[in-house]
Amino acid sequence: MTHRVKLRSLAKINLDLRVLHKREDGYHELRTVFQTISLADAIAIEYTPAKRTSLAIDDDHQIPNNLVLQAAQVALDAMKTHAQIRFRLRKQIPMGAGLGGGSSNAAAVLLALPVLAGRVIPFDKLNALATALGSDVPFFLDGGTALGLGRGTELYPLADVQQNAILLVAPGVHVSTVQAYQGLNLRAKPAAGKLTSPALSPKINDFRLFVRTLQDVRSARAASALSANDFESSVFSQHPRLKKIFGKLRQVSAAHGGTARMTGSGSAMFAVFDSRQERDEAAAQARKSFGNKRVYGQCDLIETQLVSRASYRKLWRRQLAPHLLADDSIWPPRSQYAR
Ligand code: C5P
Repeated sequence: MTHRVKLRSLAKINLDLRVLHKREDGYHELRTVFQTISLADAIAIEYTPAKRTSLAIDDDHQIPNNLVLQAAQVALDAMKTHAQIRFRLRKQIPMGAGLGGGSSNAAAVLLALPVLAGRVIPFDKLNALATALGSDVPFFLDGGTALGLGRGTELYPLADVQQNAILLVAPGVHVSTVQAYQGLNLRAKPAAGKLTSPALSPKINDFRLFVRTLQDVRSARAASALSANDFESSVFSQHPRLKKIFGKLRQVSAAHGGTARMTGSGSAMFAVFDSRQERDEAAAQARKSFGNKRVYGQCDLIETQLVSRASYRKLWRRQLAPHLLADDSIWPPRSQYAR
């Protein structure tokens, strides 16, 4: 019996992102606040139990080593089952832009397959699979607003904030995450056995102030004046066009008393607004400027909004509804086919 589902796989932004130091394992120690937004890829899945596994994907971009297939394989292995699975992936989330599209797709597969297969993967196992697939994948198992520490995989849910309107600019530049980390001009590493060095304290204090304000006022817009992204200066010095685009977005946002940030290691940037109306006015302004391709190149302007954890879960329950246990409030959602 074939089970079918259509999913929206949401993007994320980093409301704040600080890089402390390079670790022994080669990753960097982060302090970040992840946030889901309404911009989404569409994933359709057809799942048929089978004696031997076969995975196929129809993807306009022919993405090499697609995380969707990797996630499917590790999920089947964890459930000790075989299936014929066909995926159709329609990308709306710009790639290489710091929006976590591939990571979100992988997490969507990890959440959906146990429901379609009628199996349970315990949350700690699901989290371990997600962490092995990539640093941003575990966040999408929960969505909403979350504090990310360590590699970005040690996650703590934060209270939902207002679902502010966002203007997102995708400049069509693919920033390599690895190169962006290499380009950082990091301060001294902490002494052995110490989590922080004296040189890091201001960064941690500023981050703490951002998180405290975000939680006090429950508004990303109000807290944005205190936000930072440590990749901005190094990525902008490597890509002068991005710096120009950022300057313009900041100017457009400042007309409404706001600011702008880059997300992840770039290249996408965003500004947060109090209302849709302000966002739409800013978008109209920005469209006039970014229409000048000689100066700004090809920029995509995307009107979107923050998505809270409550809305994220509601979306997941809605899209998996035909396959779920009725009136169940356990997260992640449980299959009605599970024995
Ligand atoms: O975990 P993921 O595969 O998404 O990371 C891609 C690359 O980004 C890593 O190989 C590493 O170079 C860099 N990275 C890092 N520190 C992090 C996350 C990612 O240096 N916290």
